[in-house]
Amino acid sequence: MTTFIEVDTLKNYIAGNWEEADKTTAVMNPATGEEIVQVPLSNQEQVNKAVAAAKQAQRKWALVPAPQRAEVLYRMGNLMKENKERLSRILTMENGKVLEEARGEVQEGIDMAFYMAGEGRRLFGQTTPAELKDKFAISQRCPVGVVGIITPWNFPIAIATWKSFPAIVAGNAVIWKPATETPLMAYELAKIFAEAGLPDGVLNVVFGSGSVVGDAMVHHDDIRVISFTGSNDTGRQIAAKCGQQLKKVSLEMGGKNAVIVMDDADLELAAEGIIWSAFGTSGQRCTACSRVIVHENVKAKLEERLLEKMKHLTIGNGLDETIKVGPIINEAGLNKIKRYVEIGKEEGATLLAGGEVWQGELGGNFFSPTLFTDATPTMRISQEEIFGPVVSLIPVKSFAEAIEVNNGVSYGLSSSIFTKDVNRVFQAQRDLDTGIVYVNAGTTGAEIHLPFGGTKGTGNGHRDSGVQALDVFTEWKAVYIDYSGKLQRAQIDIE
Ligand code: NAP
Repeated sequence: MTTFIEVDTLKNYIAGNWEEADKTTAVMNPATGEEIVQVPLSNQEQVNKAVAAAKQAQRKWALVPAPQRAEVLYRMGNLMKENKERLSRILTMENGKVLEEARGEVQEGIDMAFYMAGEGRRLFGQTTPAELKDKFAISQRCPVGVVGIITPWNFPIAIATWKSFPAIVAGNAVIWKPATETPLMAYELAKIFAEAGLPDGVLNVVFGSGSVVGDAMVHHDDIRVISFTGSNDTGRQIAAKCGQQLKKVSLEMGGKNAVIVMDDADLELAAEGIIWSAFGTSGQRCTACSRVIVHENVKAKLEERLLEKMKHLTIGNGLDETIKVGPIINEAGLNKIKRYVEIGKEEGATLLAGGEVWQGELGGNFFSPTLFTDATPTMRISQEEIFGPVVSLIPVKSFAEAIEVNNGVSYGLSSSIFTKDVNRVFQAQRDLDTGIVYVNAGTTGAEIHLPFGGTKGTGNGHRDSGVQALDVFTEWKAVYIDYSGKLQRAQIDIE
């Protein structure tokens, strides 16, 4: 047990109480393979209890003026700031990402707290002219009620804040099921919510597996919105179940993100951007770069620079500040990466570096940063999400071909182009069909006040973060106020 982790066994957080569950399972540090905490495996009963508490709390919370609701988020932001280093270290222990990136993720949550707190004084609706005299017309945002959020292990705190903060400032109550792999950030965030003065029952955390707790949330009649981030397989199942119940569902799923490197690009900058976005978080980011679409004229020079930089990617425990690449979350993740490397070789791509499990002395799950070249756009390693430190170079002959290859996958999350040609910059930002586009930067690095999410197979049209997140957690209400003192019939009594 480390000094940062305060408890041996986590409890659910329901109606402001910490409640034991009958069954628990071990959570491992992916860098060392050591147990760090036991997490509850809750069931339908705990979900029902949390929803009942949330329903009751939400009625009162919705009546608290939004600027006062926002005060809780300001306090959240300040408390998260005070606890930033401790939170970051715990995050590294449960998720494995290197400390520098863990600090970045916690900072993202802090930014989201202050940004969404500001929404407490906006939550803008519209006033609009009415078509009849002495009549007033507005549209306003209303809370939906009880909302369910289901989050993945790869950003255990940032994604939770992208969802819970807009939901709460808009007057909803939340049931949150974090990934079983990374429950400590949920425990810490729930404690901070309580300290920040959030009324009991407005946020409830129910730990447990997706197939039991997640599924119970998806099927609960009183949860009117499901906001999910995770894999496409799970997202599709959830969407089908929500569709049957006419339940609103927001899905943020996988990616197959590409960096385009044109022949006029600053190659040093491009190589830095590729290394950071392909191997940061060991490639376990939904926005990770896993394809490099490179102009054939600069392919050899780019390969050279990438190989040189990859020599400096130290692998190990992310708590050691000299380490650049941390572990893979678990053995299943590691096996999936191994399989894709074999597929890449069988398909005829050339392995330039890596391609192996990294055998350190730590006992965790590590994979060496891996570079393929001469991949074709239709190979499986160019089409399917690998979710590990594996990147494939795909040579192209022109800008038009680069755009076509970028767009020729089922996902649409993030893309990037390195070029100095201003015309190409504008053409690319128009023609790349992803929800996020970077110019002269890698595929990662979203800021919380812009909409985050993707097109095509990455999502279903909703966005996390940005003011757009409020659309997931609010309903629009149109209000007509007639102050003429007589019956006025719309479309009929027009003078
Ligand atoms: P996952 O297996 O789909 O799990 C995500 C969450 O869903 C976990 O909390 C999981 O619970 C839960 N879950 C699993 N089965 C469920 C079910 N039948 N009903 C309800 N909930 C269920 O995904 P992951 O492997 O953790 O996450 C990696 C994926 O997330 C990648 O594809 C990545 O690209 C994507 N991602 C997307 C974004 C984005 O914004 N687009 C951001 C980050 C990650 P348990 O695991 O506890 O069982």
